[in-house]
Amino acid sequence: MIEVSIVASELNQLKQQLDQTRLSHRDTTLKSRREIMLLKRIILRFCAACKHHDSELDKEIVELATSIEQVENTSDLTVRIATFERLINRYKQNVQKEHSMMEDHISYCGETLQRVIGLPAGLKRDLRNLLQHPSHDGSKHIHRIVRLIELYERAIKFISVGQLSSEINSNEIIDVDTQEQLSNELQHLISELDFDSTSGKDLLEIRNKLLTGVDAVSLIDLALQTLKLVLEGTNNERKASQAFVGEMNTQVAQIIKTSEQNQEKSQAYLEQRSLLNEEYSLLVKQAENLLNSKVSMQEHKAQMALLLSEMSDLSERNKAMQEREAALIERHEYATKKLNTLYEETLEYRRQLNNQQQRIFKDPLTKVYNRAAMHERLDLEYKRWVRHQHSLVLSIIDIDQFKRINKNYGHLAGDKALSIIAKTIENQVSDTNFVARFSGEEFLILFTETTEDERKKVLANIQSAIAKLPFKFKDNHVKITVSICSSEFTNSDIPEKVIERSIQALYKQKTKGIEQLISA
Ligand code: GH3
Ligand code: MG
Ligand code: MG
Repeated sequence: MIEVSIVASELNQLKQQLDQTRLSHRDTTLKSRREIMLLKRIILRFCAACKHHDSELDKEIVELATSIEQVENTSDLTVRIATFERLINRYKQNVQKEHSMMEDHISYCGETLQRVIGLPAGLKRDLRNLLQHPSHDGSKHIHRIVRLIELYERAIKFISVGQLSSEINSNEIIDVDTQEQLSNELQHLISELDFDSTSGKDLLEIRNKLLTGVDAVSLIDLALQTLKLVLEGTNNERKASQAFVGEMNTQVAQIIKTSEQNQEKSQAYLEQRSLLNEEYSLLVKQAENLLNSKVSMQEHKAQMALLLSEMSDLSERNKAMQEREAALIERHEYATKKLNTLYEETLEYRRQLNNQQQRIFKDPLTKVYNRAAMHERLDLEYKRWVRHQHSLVLSIIDIDQFKRINKNYGHLAGDKALSIIAKTIENQVSDTNFVARFSGEEFLILFTETTEDERKKVLANIQSAIAKLPFKFKDNHVKITVSICSSEFTNSDIPEKVIERSIQALYKQKTKGIEQLISA
């Protein structure tokens, strides 16, 4: 009995365990089903999201979705999911490639916009910011494209309201400092050119425009005009020289030809004259013979008449001969005169060439040496200094607030002041030293073998003489002053370095006021 009750109890226990296990199995199955359902739903949603990008992928998605709906056991889907994974990977690579192409395209479009001249600075700054931060993962492409489209929109609005052309000014093409520097350089180059005629006049007009200040576009235009005028001027001078040489050649050839003809004629005349002389001697001999002969008076007379007639004929021929010779002498004299005139003209031309050569080294406005001459002399003095190590000092003289003169009284007044100041400087400097117009309103003196005391005296005299000049513009008495900086060549100095040193020191010192006199 006990055994039966034990067995019954065990059976009961087993039954409970079985029920427990059955319940737990049912829970697990339910859970697993729920999870599979969830997974299926996610896969289907994922499939839907991946649709319409790649035809092969789309086909696979349809098949995967159908299989998911039909299969009970998810392990049956393993192969299908592996294919799907491979296609997704391929799709990912394609997308990455497209992103990179898209980034390139954004950069290209941005750079194209950046090259549009005259866009407002703010727009360009925004564009720069956009281009400086490329997106590598493609996540920000849409944002960047929208930004770029906005900038294009702004640019188009800006252009369409016609501001572009007026905005193309110095600030956009070149900065103000560079523009001013270029304008000064062009002015200076023009003032070194020395063409006569219309080219010279037009160049002067360009220089005057530059002096009154121009914007960047006009500056480029004026530079082009200058180039054209220089070419024109050079061509005209070349043509004039060619014409002169051509004319000389023709005239010399003509004179040579006439001289040869004259010489031939003169030879022929000489021969004819010698024949006349022979004939004359013969007639004289015949006359003598007649006088000595014992013929009758009548016969004598008849023969004498014959001789006289021949003599008269000979005399006529002699006269004609003399006239021909006189004409020849006249022609010869004419040729000699012409040759002399040609000689004079050539001398004059050579004088002009010499003058021009001199002028090449002189500044036409101030008549002191120009920059080309300055470089040549500086180079020479520098080489001498390297060899002998004597004292070599360079002084830069800069007119104080010169722009004020141009601004208040016009550039013609400025020109006049420049030329008088140059003369004043030259008057104070001895012949052994050298004065040149270094640039617009700056002059350079090269002191060779001058003591420091002498130099200081000369420079102080220059300053006081200029300050005392009685300038009067528009009924105003105007005082003009200059500042000077001197630099002595030492150690490994080269001319460019010394010039730069002086200029920099002078500019710095000038911030303290006018009439500075320093060494650097
Ligand atoms: P700072 O006291 O600092 O030297 O001022 P600044 O005005 O003298 O100097 P800046 O170098 O700025 O200006 C020089 C001016 O000289 C600019 C230019 O218009 C003028 N200039 C240059 N060449 C000529 C010229 O041949 N004739 C005239 N009239 N003016 C010239
Ligand atoms: Mg200056
Ligand atoms: Mg100055």
